[in-house]
Amino acid sequence: MKVLVINAGSSSLKYQLMDPETREVLAKGLCERIGIDGRLTHKIPAKDAKYEFEIPMPTHAEAIQSVLDALLSSEHGVIKSASEIDAVGHRVVHGGEKFASSVAIDDAVMAAIEECIPLAPLHNPANITGIKACQQVMPGVPMVAVFDTAFHQTMPAKSYIYALPYEYYEKDKVRRYGFHGTSHRYVSARAAAMLGKPLEELKIITCHLGNGSSIAAVDCGKSVDTTMGFTPLAGLPMGTRSGDLDAGILEYLMNKYGYDMKEMMNILNKKSGVLGISGVSSDFRDIENAAKEGNKQAELALEAFQYGVKKYIGAYAAAMGGVDAIVFTAGVGENDANTRMAAASGLEFMGVKMDAEANNVRGKETVISAPDSKVKVLLIPTDEELMIAMDTAAIVNG
Ligand code: AMP
Repeated sequence: MKVLVINAGSSSLKYQLMDPETREVLAKGLCERIGIDGRLTHKIPAKDAKYEFEIPMPTHAEAIQSVLDALLSSEHGVIKSASEIDAVGHRVVHGGEKFASSVAIDDAVMAAIEECIPLAPLHNPANITGIKACQQVMPGVPMVAVFDTAFHQTMPAKSYIYALPYEYYEKDKVRRYGFHGTSHRYVSARAAAMLGKPLEELKIITCHLGNGSSIAAVDCGKSVDTTMGFTPLAGLPMGTRSGDLDAGILEYLMNKYGYDMKEMMNILNKKSGVLGISGVSSDFRDIENAAKEGNKQAELALEAFQYGVKKYIGAYAAAMGGVDAIVFTAGVGENDANTRMAAASGLEFMGVKMDAEANNVRGKETVISAPDSKVKVLLIPTDEELMIAMDTAAIVNG
């Protein structure tokens, strides 16, 4: 079976054509500058080949058509006919309270995704545009929506409710939703497989640490708490996002500097996080280099991030009444041994003992805790596209 996985943004679109059974990625790539001019980067992993094209993409429909053309090309294609694409899996950011799992897309599902637009005004419209473009270019091909929020719909009310007047939850759906759900679901399932135990018997803390970061408490396979909230701005400090902060700061800064809400949100989303503290970069590699050269703000940014991760690990162990495994994933979690070590050390009191040598790895599934560590610490590269393809195959195959 061949599944095309689509992750549509407002002016870009990522794709992967893969076989969810063999897990082989036949081709993958990226359309950029949609609505401006249009650029396609197309890769064939088996040949280690990369192709770049300038193709006019006034809308997402032309972008999808250019993806199909690339997949079918006699020179750099991987399929002979469009009918070889059995299904399309779409990443959709926000499913609100309507979707607790992936679903086959029909008119009612499209309407429900549209109803979630106020909750994700930047992301859901782009995802909808991507779905409509695929329906236009590939009529009749089954399509599935996989939501970033769905995995966290199992959170109990005490985890998702904000201490605001209850009407804002009832009327306006203001609550914690959580994001990166597809990644947390994938790595928690892989953790159970690596430990050789049923997911339903494990308490796992999954740390998705990348440009955007979130941690989830996964109890018996179900998300019971997570650090991101109503929006992906909450929780840990991130590349450029502030993470949790005292809402009173907004009033103070807005009054003092005359910012309007848009300017304030731009600061919180784009100028804060480890970029804001360090003043150097949002990229952990740059910050680590600056810290090594003695930049104190860079050092502080790393410390604040690592401390944030450690604090949530402690909190989620308490929330679940224990923890069997801690998982590190995503750009920072998979590649940055220093951050993993700093975040997971000092937790010996709760049975976490890191192994410095085992931790000195990048990007592969492995155990990084000491053999006698009661809590296993795992490095697991995330694969959201595979999860989307597997969900799509499962739904389409009934
Ligand atoms: P992601 O959002 O999951 O793609 O993660 C991207 C982030 O991972 C980058 O912005 C870097 O901060 C971080 N990253 C990638 N490679 C490394 C590395 N070797 N060491 C430290 N951080 C890294």
